[in-house]
Amino acid sequence: MKLNEIKLSNPYLTLPDECHDRVTPAPLKNAFLIHANEEVAKMLDIDVEELNTESFANFANGVLALEGSETFAMCYAGHQFGHFVPRLGDGRAINIGTINNLHMQLKGAGQTKYSRSGDGRAVLRSSIREYLMSEAMFGLGIETTRALALIGSKHEVYRQSWEKGAIVLRVSPSWVRFGTFEYFAHKKKYKELEALADYAIAESYPHLMDEPNKYLHFFTEVVGKTARLMAEWQAVGFNHGVMNTDNMSIAGLTIDYGPYAFLDDYDFQYICNHTDSGGRYSFGNQPNIGEWNLRAFMLALSPLVNSDRLEKIIEHYPRLYTERYLYLMGKKTGLDKAQESDIDLFKHLLGMLQGLNIDYTLFFRTLSHYSGDRSDMLKLALFHKPMNDWLDSYDERLKENSSSTEERQEIMLETNPKYVLKNYMLQEAIDAAEEGDYSMINDLFKIAQNPYAEHENFERWAGATPDEFKNKKLSCSS
Ligand code: AMP
Ligand code: MG
Repeated sequence: MKLNEIKLSNPYLTLPDECHDRVTPAPLKNAFLIHANEEVAKMLDIDVEELNTESFANFANGVLALEGSETFAMCYAGHQFGHFVPRLGDGRAINIGTINNLHMQLKGAGQTKYSRSGDGRAVLRSSIREYLMSEAMFGLGIETTRALALIGSKHEVYRQSWEKGAIVLRVSPSWVRFGTFEYFAHKKKYKELEALADYAIAESYPHLMDEPNKYLHFFTEVVGKTARLMAEWQAVGFNHGVMNTDNMSIAGLTIDYGPYAFLDDYDFQYICNHTDSGGRYSFGNQPNIGEWNLRAFMLALSPLVNSDRLEKIIEHYPRLYTERYLYLMGKKTGLDKAQESDIDLFKHLLGMLQGLNIDYTLFFRTLSHYSGDRSDMLKLALFHKPMNDWLDSYDERLKENSSSTEERQEIMLETNPKYVLKNYMLQEAIDAAEEGDYSMINDLFKIAQNPYAEHENFERWAGATPDEFKNKKLSCSS
């Protein structure tokens, strides 16, 4: 459809007024389109030809409102680094309407009632990071929000120095967070809490709408989805960095991309967020924090459901997480079916990677080609003995596999990406974009969409991260 044929709905506005703040986007000055996502456009029924028009850039900059659009920010609370903050909300994300059950937001389009002291803006570097990484996670088959467009501008925004403002037009089947529930539970507004639960069920778990114990089932689903998401992050080597409860999706999606990172050399203790001095959100702690956050959500749901019953459900979280993680690690190592008895093989593997400082992504991609000749594997390791020891155990385990070497390699090459968007790659794209060259955003977008393909002309990004860029921390400022 053409933009002027589209009609938006605004289902979130059926909730009580306290859930949102009606606010009009404040467009960026001298804005222009940097990139648009054709796949997402199709999901929204927007004709791909429309993406190159001035109207589209105006739409993504909040200048042009489509028919039916009602703009608002959502209210929520949240536990930030373990401390409860009773009122947060979208400080710089403005909802502009829904198509095909996908809710669009302009991130960086100015202040809202929830901006506190913030300017409601997003800078170019953080917007490039969210735009590309949400697509990369989708390309890896991990549940995530997505983005339709990235807008640049000449609008000055002050962080540690003057930078250029940008907007990501992001899209999600749900923007409801654990913290959205915490907001109403804390205020003891149980009618609103119930309305929100009904809304979230209809939006993300419609099969539960008519269930007698729907809130209990809802919690069961959120526990399962969260366990699964944590296993996906751990298996692929993704560190989110700011797992506050306001950044946890009720639909089990990866949301709010900030100082995230993919692992370079495997490091269980890696902390991508440089403000996280205690390592609360370190890579290795993510599954525990997933449970901690579910407990905060559980408390918020307790006015609606008996707490003992909720407790019984959350007790399954460690098992659900482990089952999914084992399944994923089994796929990564090409085992027909990973069993609990394989945990030792995986522990041995991760210990070896940690001890030898081996690039996590490169290791699995190289292993995907392994057929008994160890030379390429040994090239990854400064000391050969630990690698040989692990390969001895792996060779033994492979004897129990019924699939052929070729079949195993095929599955592994579809499971272990050749490329992940490491921070040094994103930084290179950001540095170029800040000088007005957006070409690398196109390149990284192609990799993001198809991380398992060979992409021979992008070979330089397939190796281990160069030493000077390894395992760095990132600032939260965005
Ligand atoms: P985040 O860490 O990005 O999830 O943000 C935490 C909270 O701070 C959310 O409520 C954001 O909306 C808000 N926030 C972050 N940056 C800004 C900004 N520049 N202006 C207004 N609010 C912001
Ligand atoms: Mg957030």
